[in-house]
Parts: sequence; structure tokens; C-alpha cells
Amino acid sequence: MGEFELIRRYFAAAPCAQPGEGVVQGIGDDCALLALAAGEQLAVSTDTLVIGVHFPHSCDAFLLGQRALAVATSDLAAMGAAPLGFTLALTLPQADPDWLQAFAEGLNQMAQACNMRLIGGDTTRGPLTLTLTVFGRVPAGQALTRAGAQVGDLLCVGGALGDAAAALPLVLGQRTAAAEIAEPLLARYWAPQPQLALGQALRGKATAALDISDGLVADCGHIASASNVALHIERERLPLSPAVQSWLDPQSAWNCALSGGDDYVLAFTVAQRHLAELQQHGWPIAVIGRVVAGKGVHLFDSAGHSLELSARGYLHFGQHSGGTGDSSEQENGT
Ligand code: ADP
Ligand code: MG
Repeated sequence: MGEFELIRRYFAAAPCAQPGEGVVQGIGDDCALLALAAGEQLAVSTDTLVIGVHFPHSCDAFLLGQRALAVATSDLAAMGAAPLGFTLALTLPQADPDWLQAFAEGLNQMAQACNMRLIGGDTTRGPLTLTLTVFGRVPAGQALTRAGAQVGDLLCVGGALGDAAAALPLVLGQRTAAAEIAEPLLARYWAPQPQLALGQALRGKATAALDISDGLVADCGHIASASNVALHIERERLPLSPAVQSWLDPQSAWNCALSGGDDYVLAFTVAQRHLAELQQHGWPIAVIGRVVAGKGVHLFDSAGHSLELSARGYLHFGQHSGGTGDSSEQENGT
């Protein structure tokens, strides 16, 4: 199978590669052409996934296609952009028809779920590597950046945290769990749902936003530094899914929520007055803390005691903690 036959069969012919709203020219010419309305800006983001680094060698091709696009599209959600399309630069060791078919199906399924169109790409030979570039549109000046958090705002997240981190031992085959636990956790890992509608609803309301890819604490650190504020998180407010709560002890569950990456839930800061309206729309928004003057991200228990965050994100009682005498919550040597 030659390069052009491969592109035609698996990508150009896919339902998600047909022209549509905003896509004037898709696959097949030297460039794709996107249409923007007057007063709109183009949002662009690129992600590269390398075999053995970002996904395991044993990775299922369908799940890889699905997840790669979800992860890339989540950056559009985080900016409050509406999806337009994406390009796929695909480096393959060989053209395996079964692998390509499954990969293209996973990609197509997520593209349709996200209203994204495949508008072009590149196909080369080498170790399996995917580079996806996503394009979205946003009214000029209304993109959600990391830089606008205001002292007094609430810190919120768009849904349960820690599922993807809890799923990792299952993904890697290190642990097993009953189906009612494994299925929802693995679904969150393999098919995260970019919060595109929430991101767009946050335009003009959220003062700062991002998607949680590296872990809540690490990513909130980006908001804190870009906005020049401190973020206070209350541990007991972290939203945990039923699967995480029933599978993990509270300490492990909190650690997954605080430091586990890959959830692709939005984190944002917003003035209290906008919260009720957003919640009325049915988004599972949880208020997890607030914006205060200062620097960095700080964790507290529900009694207001400071909890120390280590470099790995794991927490133990800090110097200022009153302590509860629960030694299982102590982790030394960090
Ligand atoms: P060029 O030589 O002009 O870069 P290519 O031969 O690389 O063109 O690609 C031909 C067409 O197929 C282009 O429109 C390109 O965007 C598209 N394309 C190539 N690889 C892929 C891919 N993996 N997925 C989607 N479109 C692709
Ligand atoms: Mg090319």
C-alpha cells in the first residue's frame, strides 16, 4: 500500500474528513483552508505522542486514536474555543492495515463526538509517533487564558478528579479491579471527554482556565504564576467519582485527584456571582478553593489546617498542621 492509498483509505475517506462548517478545503491540496468569521480569532495547539513515552507498546490502536484526539482537543476547551478541525502527522514503522483501520476508527469516533474535522496531515516512516494540531475559533478577546484570576474568585473544576490516575495501574496491567470499578475508570483514561461546551460557557465569566493534564496542583500552579496570585485548595472539596471512592482509601484518592494527570477536566477561577448560573446549566462544577493574594498553590483540610504538598504531589501534614493523629496520612522523607 503506497502513501497516497493509505491516506485515502484510512483518513481522507473517513466521515470526519469530509468538509463542513468552517472547513473550506480539507485533505487533498497543499494546504487546508479554514474560514473564520469577522471578529473571530484562531486557537491553535499541538500535541505529540511517542510510543513507549506517552503510550505503551501494547496500546490498542482504536483507544490510541480516540485518546490522542481527546487530549489534543481538550486544549481548545480550555481556551473557550469552538472546535474547527485538526491535522494528523503520523509516523509509522509499517503500514499495518488492521492497525490503521482500528486507529482511524477511534480517531473518527472522537472527532465526531467533538465535532472536529480531519483537515490534513503528513505520513512518514519511523517509530510510531502521532502529532495532532487542533484548530478552533473564539470571539476576539474572549479566549480563556491562565492569566486573569482575581483575588476573591472561587477556584472550580468541571468534574471528578483522579479517575485517570486511578486507572493507570489497570492500563499498565499492574492491577485488576471488578468490572464496575475498572470500566468507568478505564473509560475516563481512554476516552476523556474534552469539556468543549463548558469552556465556551465560561467565556466572559471565568477569569482564568486550563485543562488538567499534568495534575491539579501542577496545573493550578500555572494559573497562580500567570495570574500572580495564590490558590487555596480544600482537600475535602475535591470531587471524587464513586469508582475512585470505592476502590481507593481516602488518602490515595486525594493523591490521585491532586497529582494524577490525564483527567482533562477544566480548572477555572470565577467570581461567585457567576457560579449559580453555570451550575443551573447542569455542569458538574465543584468549588474546590479560592484565589487569595500571594504565590503558589496551597492545600488545607476542612478545619483550615495547612497540608504540605511534596514535589510528587503527595501530601502529608505540614509544619503548621494541627494534625489529627492519623499516622496513615503522614509521609516522610519528601
Ligand atoms: P504534500 O507533499 O503537499 O505535503 P502529502 O503528500 O504529504 O502532501 O499529503 C497529501 C494530502 O494528504 C495533503 O492534503 C495532506 O494534508 C494529507 N495528509 C497526509 N497525511 C495525512 C494523514 N496522516 N492524515 C490526514 N491527512 C493527511
Ligand atoms: Mg506532506
